[in-house]
Amino acid sequence: MRVVLLGPPGSGKGTQAEKLGNRLNLFHISTGDIIREAVNKRTSVGEQIKDFLNRGELVPDSVVLKLLMGIIKKNEEFILDGFPRNLQQAKQLDAVLGEENKELDLVINLKIDEGAILHRLNGRLTCSQCGKVYHIDNLPSGKRCELCGASLYQRKDDNIDIIKRRINVYKESIFPLIEYYRKKGILHYIQGEMSPEKVFRGIMTLIEKRKNEVMEETWLRKN
Ligand code: ADP
Ligand code: ZN
Repeated sequence: MRVVLLGPPGSGKGTQAEKLGNRLNLFHISTGDIIREAVNKRTSVGEQIKDFLNRGELVPDSVVLKLLMGIIKKNEEFILDGFPRNLQQAKQLDAVLGEENKELDLVINLKIDEGAILHRLNGRLTCSQCGKVYHIDNLPSGKRCELCGASLYQRKDDNIDIIKRRINVYKESIFPLIEYYRKKGILHYIQGEMSPEKVFRGIMTLIEKRKNEVMEETWLRKN
């Protein structure tokens, strides 16, 4: 399966993509993590893009592509989180997959309203080691990561002004992207405000159904 998760900041893409990756043994490509890593390591690309990241704006397409394309090519199947974010990126992704006669199987759009986004992200704390996310209303005891014991921090772009900027950036670029995938017939919606477990079950149902369709199509083509 080649799956893309869409949705505004705070819709739960990262959380769900990670769970799906583990359950389905799919490689999870987190664009945000890859970008943050380049910035934290102060690579030359990182230096070029850190201001975009800190302002809550999209990093230029050419840079994102450079960072991602190798990983996308290397993995036969994957779950993509945070890419594509605009129509241009979607077309570039299709072009790269097309070179090897591959295509996306499924695009899932997580829906969530703006109030919920602000609440989630403004109170979000992230593990400094493993990246697991928490909310200040519901912290583990000792205020350290329950998985690895490391300290939690607030992402620089998780403050109210930058969150609002990120939501606007999302709104500006998402419509053509959604139209593009809707026309291809691979776009599905899931309500992202439900509990993570419910969202996960909803996504799994879609993926199972699509898997069966793909198997059937492959079988029919062979006969
Ligand atoms: P969120 O979805 O909550 O904004 P991410 O961790 O996915 O968080 O992304 C953080 C930041 O990384 C974005 O605000 C943007 O600057 C950059 N970024 C992530 N994905 C892309 C992309 N596909 N194209 C351009 N910039 C991106
Ligand atoms: Zn951790």
